[in-house]
Amino acid sequence: MKILVLGAGVIGTTSAWYLRQAGHEVTVLERRERAALETSFANGGQISVSHAEPWANPHAIPQALAWLGREDAPLLFRLRPHDFALLRWSFAFLHNCLPARTRDNIRAIVRLALYSRAQLQHLRQTLSETADFNREYDGLQKGILHIYTEREAFKRAIATSRLMQNYGLEREPIDAETCINIEPALAPIRHLLAGGDYTPTDESGDAHRFTQALAARAAAAGVSFHYNAPVVGLELHGRKLQGVTLQDGRSLKADACVLALGSYSAPFLHPYGIHLPIYPAKGYSATLELENGTPAPSVSLTDDTHKLVFSRLGNRLRVAGTAEFNGFNLEINPTRCQALLQRAGTLFPDLRYSGDPNFWCGLRPATPSNVPLIGQSKLPGLWLNTGHGTLGWTMACGSAAALTDLMAGQKSVVAFPFL
Ligand SMILES: Cc1cc2nc3c(=O)[nH]c(=O)nc-3n(C[C@H](O)[C@H](O)[C@H](O)COP(=O)(O)OP(=O)(O)OC[C@H]3O[C@@H](n4cnc5c(N)ncnc54)[C@H](O)[C@@H]3O)c2cc1C
Repeated sequence: MKILVLGAGVIGTTSAWYLRQAGHEVTVLERRERAALETSFANGGQISVSHAEPWANPHAIPQALAWLGREDAPLLFRLRPHDFALLRWSFAFLHNCLPARTRDNIRAIVRLALYSRAQLQHLRQTLSETADFNREYDGLQKGILHIYTEREAFKRAIATSRLMQNYGLEREPIDAETCINIEPALAPIRHLLAGGDYTPTDESGDAHRFTQALAARAAAAGVSFHYNAPVVGLELHGRKLQGVTLQDGRSLKADACVLALGSYSAPFLHPYGIHLPIYPAKGYSATLELENGTPAPSVSLTDDTHKLVFSRLGNRLRVAGTAEFNGFNLEINPTRCQALLQRAGTLFPDLRYSGDPNFWCGLRPATPSNVPLIGQSKLPGLWLNTGHGTLGWTMACGSAAALTDLMAGQKSVVAFPFL
């Protein structure tokens, strides 16, 4: 088939790779000058099946209320009375906080993320036959350690770990001492740690470098990438997709099209009467150039209470997380940036870095459940691979592989609520 992939973030690029491997003629259309310059640019760097618990869970509401009005809150809802998309999204979010919904969402995410991690490992093995692909993106296979500085949060996490274990994930609750054995850089805050849980099979790395390296391999394998090519509309015959129109007026024909525009997927489809439940959830990161010999973590960490992650990327440390619901606003808020550094300073009091931190923000394409939208849309010929929220890199390879099967008319091996 002749397939157009819209968007070259981590989702569009992995889609292009898997579709090409299946023998299709693939063209990627991206409005920016290279791949992965938007949300996939400076994220938390985790391949974290262990992070499958969505924001929408029974504890989210009291937590969000406690943070209300705080500019540095880990989860910040800005009141936007005329933003009906946010209102609709928030009601659906509340519905997903019900215990049964949360359990179903965790099950779907764990299954897809486990499949995805296995696909990534296979991909890395295949691509490392010619060069060390892992090194190209600062990949680390040292697991992910969740730490808890509040006793209640740790107790709740034990129940979540048990649930994820039932779905096949190796996530073990551990005491503070074991956390320090796994990551000695935590030793100075032994007194703060209530406990943790460790998933040795999770991974970390630089999602931006991964996507760019994969795009280069995909191009070498015959995928055609068109950069600086904003797509402005779909071309339909009745309801059937025929192709797309670019901003410069060009029209490209195709047998099928994969929509992977991240947060922009929803506004892109509005004119066609399709209302995707995706809202941009803004997150921040700070990337620090570490000084030689500084005590910094090398195991990727999740600080659950503060909704932050810490990933070692070569000689850099990435601190990332928090969420703000404020439309498509991409301004950098200094208070939220300082909150990242403050927490890094609390957890790693002896950390030394050179130069100014590199601050960045991006818009997670968040569904209320954090379950992505993968499969055939209401328009024949238009397929969706979008809405990956907090776990886009974690679920990328699996989503792309599953989509490739679905587009070939086959059943995916993953038990997941595809569209
Ligand atoms: C602070 C933060 C931390 C995170 N940490 C992690 C983590 O540790 N692990 C993890 O798995 N996930 C993490 N995520 C989530 C992850 O980064 C996202 O889910 C993922 O990047 C989404 O990828 P995407 O390809 O859907 O979107 P994007 O990367 O945004 O790609 C969409 C692409 O579409 C292009 N585009 C948009 N409109 C058009 C148009 N009209 N025409 C052509 N092109 C267009 C854009 O330019 C962009 O390149 C984090 C996110 C944030 C913000």
